[in-house]
Amino acid sequence: MYWMSHLTVDIGGRPGIDCRGFCDYCYFRHVKDVAPLGCRYCLPFKKGCDYCSRGVKEHYTGFKSLKTVADETLGSLQVLTGDVTRITVSGGGDPSCYPEFRDLMELLGSMESPLHIGYTSGKGFDDPAIADFLISNGLAEVSYTIFSSDPALRRRYMHDPTPEASLAIFERLSAEIDVYAAGVVLPGVNDGDDLVRTCEWLDERGAKGLILMRFANTSEQGLILGNAPIMAGQKVHTVQEFADLVTGLNEQFSMKISGTPLCDPEIGSPFAILHEPDLLKKLPLVTGRATVVTGSVAAPYIRRLLRMRGYQGEVAAVEKEIACLITIDDLKDLELPNLGDVVIIPGRAFVHEAEAERVLSADGTARMVVRGPEMLTADAETSMGMKMSGVLRMEMEGFAALINIINQNG
Ligand code: SF4
Repeated sequence: MYWMSHLTVDIGGRPGIDCRGFCDYCYFRHVKDVAPLGCRYCLPFKKGCDYCSRGVKEHYTGFKSLKTVADETLGSLQVLTGDVTRITVSGGGDPSCYPEFRDLMELLGSMESPLHIGYTSGKGFDDPAIADFLISNGLAEVSYTIFSSDPALRRRYMHDPTPEASLAIFERLSAEIDVYAAGVVLPGVNDGDDLVRTCEWLDERGAKGLILMRFANTSEQGLILGNAPIMAGQKVHTVQEFADLVTGLNEQFSMKISGTPLCDPEIGSPFAILHEPDLLKKLPLVTGRATVVTGSVAAPYIRRLLRMRGYQGEVAAVEKEIACLITIDDLKDLELPNLGDVVIIPGRAFVHEAEAERVLSADGTARMVVRGPEMLTADAETSMGMKMSGVLRMEMEGFAALINIINQNG
């Protein structure tokens, strides 16, 4: 049998520190040493595991040496079966700031598989010639932070010492390979006319797509590492304002423009399945009444879909907007009398189940907590390279699993 294998090369590094200093809007700024939150990987009797105490914070000690990266890559190759069809470079720090970046690229390029850089800000690139070097070493795809096509804004907010060079590299790469641009939108800084100019710049250069990220500045908006606010006094879009911005821009430009937390206008996600009555009919009917807890963005969609399949229970929304970032503090704010005896929490919530049961039974009614599916839909980062059929399949699988969990648990 023929196997295809993806190889991930982890270069380590610390966000902000191994990126030539923090971008002003970085999600990892001001991160405190918070106690482990608990998660789906924790053992039932112990809150905190490697994932939720270290992985989430991307808590590396610094970039790994080239020798370590090479040794680890060799080790991974030995356990992979078949040809390597794609190599992805990832890490906590920014690959463009990796001290032995050229040697690393030559080493990986010699394996003659398409290279993919999972994410770079480009801040570490000072010489435009690096673009051709990357292309000749097999770079096929990169996600590259644009923030703005105005070098002055990159310099000011990303602390990019050579913004003109970073943009020249972006331009050269876009002409040859698949470049996905990404950018956090700061209202009053890089939205409005600047964002339209940036989209024009990207479209003209042949970028494959642009993912816009709504800036988060409070715990409800997703800062769960004790680090709010990131930028004191900075204005933030509401989820709806942001979705309208993304939808409007996507209509104006030929490249694909999507946003997180909302939305991918071309595919209709999140929850594209709501527009597909024939698919909805194929989902199982809901016979159980278990309460479904979710984030405030997803709640109306999930409620609507489950009701269409006969659900008579409660979809309870916490204030946290993103379901995957729910923590125990969000559960503490729920109105307990509104909850059933069985409560389903999002699969990825940063909550330890035993603690959740204690908190949700505080009114004297013993409640059982069950973890739901990991994903019910695709966010824009997931859907960027996907076709609509793939997103619908994900949603069908997610909802079928959720309904089965509701039915099995009452
Ligand atoms: S490049 Fe990314 S990880 Fe590094 S400081 Fe900027 S936003 Fe944070």
